[in-house]
Amino acid sequence: MNEIKCNVTNCMYHSGTTNCTAKEVQVASQCKKEPCKCSETECGTFAPKN
Ligand code: SF4
Repeated sequence: MNEIKCNVTNCMYHSGTTNCTAKEVQVASQCKKEPCKCSETECGTFAPKN
């Protein structure tokens, strides 16, 4: 059972309810230094729904 909770409903891996259906998720830093806030990381597996 996948336990990744996500609210990005326009992602092709989103279940349509509250969770992610991808087998694995890559989380990436979005800043040049080490991240220190939630907003400085994001899901690199995201792919928009068509
Ligand atoms: S791949 Fe990332 S953005 Fe997409 S549903 Fe899963 S956790 Fe959310």
